[in-house]
Amino acid sequence: MSRIRAAFYDPEGTRYGIPTYWWRGAPAGYATRRQLRARGLRPGGQEVAAQVLWRGVGGVRAAYLYRVDLARPKRMATPAQRAAIGCALRARRTCPTCQVVQPYYIPRSHGECLDCAPTGGAR
Ligand SMILES: [Zn+2]
Repeated sequence: MSRIRAAFYDPEGTRYGIPTYWWRGAPAGYATRRQLRARGLRPGGQEVAAQVLWRGVGGVRAAYLYRVDLARPKRMATPAQRAAIGCALRARRTCPTCQVVQPYYIPRSHGECLDCAPTGGAR
């Protein structure tokens, strides 16, 4: 139990590049895009501030968190804006080793996805 949590707990973002928490381990002040929308807010151009990782059906699942204090009132993005954001996020999720687009950011310390990286992280 604690091993799984520890594996996904990286509040400084040293392993994954952004602060990473286990499910329900995220601090207050962060919200998913869906939670923001429920409050009539949108990320407002900010980058993903943190992510939550958990082991679920089909492997590691991810949810992206945004800072509530940087969120803005809802407004429709143009398709071009959405495409640009999607490309940037996808690049950070693409494993350079197997070219698979993962649901989570590629850990900076590994340089490849969790499937390609040796287990244990001793490298
Ligand atoms: Zn890979």
